[in-house]
Amino acid sequence: MDSIYLDNNATTRLAAEVTDRMRAVAEERFANPASQHREGARARRFLEDQRLAILEHLGASTVGMAADRLLFTSGGTESNNLAVFGLARPETRVLISAVEHPSVTAAAQQLAASNHDVRAIPVDSSGVIRLEELEKLLATAPTSLVCVMAANNETGVIQPVQEAAQLAHRHGALLHCDAVQWVGKRPTPFREWNVDSLSASCHKFHGPVGAGVLCLRHSVPLQPRLFGGFQQDGWRPGTESLVLAAGFRAALQRAVHFDYQAVGQLRDRLETGLLGLGPDVGINGREAARMPHTSNVSLAVDRQAFLLAADLQGLCLSAGSACASGSSEPSPVLMAMGLEKQVLDGSIRISLGRDTTVEEVNVAVQKIGKIYHALPKLARV
Ligand code: PLP
Repeated sequence: MDSIYLDNNATTRLAAEVTDRMRAVAEERFANPASQHREGARARRFLEDQRLAILEHLGASTVGMAADRLLFTSGGTESNNLAVFGLARPETRVLISAVEHPSVTAAAQQLAASNHDVRAIPVDSSGVIRLEELEKLLATAPTSLVCVMAANNETGVIQPVQEAAQLAHRHGALLHCDAVQWVGKRPTPFREWNVDSLSASCHKFHGPVGAGVLCLRHSVPLQPRLFGGFQQDGWRPGTESLVLAAGFRAALQRAVHFDYQAVGQLRDRLETGLLGLGPDVGINGREAARMPHTSNVSLAVDRQAFLLAADLQGLCLSAGSACASGSSEPSPVLMAMGLEKQVLDGSIRISLGRDTTVEEVNVAVQKIGKIYHALPKLARV
């Protein structure tokens, strides 16, 4: 039995064009871009070309004295950690949305242990941050950093990033945006959003695992977290990988030519099918603007039992963030939305990809329906 892969928010299949590109770069270019000889200079020029192209794709400014910066990192987790630790100023308030990815929340918890006043920006029942609450939090203490993600990894709910950045700036704070679930799915307007930093990770859009970026607005000062080299101006030292930089660029280039609305139609088909299973099935965050590839479904059956049964049926689904997989704790994202216990214990994430087919969606609905009807319903408390 072939499996049906509907866990694309955890990671995506590496695209053949991206593999080809990386293989070619690996075979042609092996010099260290920090080396002084001509092969090193050639490698450096190649690396800077990748950097420039990625900045352009992200809607950053690449010209003149106000050009933005791009740091290559090992992925979204490192980029988020670098932004949180590198942008927060000592003894100030740090605000993070209540639905951030663990790579932001856990970093912020570390800051809280070292004299930062870390507060969560509440969200409404559909998972969108309450801008009026953000404004109140900004007004009551000097704040250095606000973290608001572009799109949530569990629900796909889109946040008002531009408005949050405007509020943050009005109060002298920087805004970091975790755009890991956005980049590669929709055009990224870094300058238009007017955010100060933005993270992305290309294994979420058919690029290699282990390749991330942190895009920084011109003149934003960052405290490094790693030491020991002058690469990337010392802001994120370590020998850069030409292969991964080229893989990131190739994946992004491939992504900009794909219309994710088609995936949204498949998602709608899936949700219509699932809502037809019974009156206690619901879609979390459905009232908000959402990314086209993510569906968070409340089935009112024990989610661990459901996922186990689904796996036996060849359905690859998840309970929520891949970083929390294996954990039976309820999702902090759904808890922040104030959802009832039946929903917290009975929700799963289904994430589609650009290679998901109508047939796969039809079979998935059928199989989910079978499991749903076979499992005992959770009581409403
Ligand atoms: N931020 C979000 C919203 C994510 O979905 C993920 C991965 O699931 C990350 C950050 C971490 O990215 P990476 O797996 O590249 O470390």
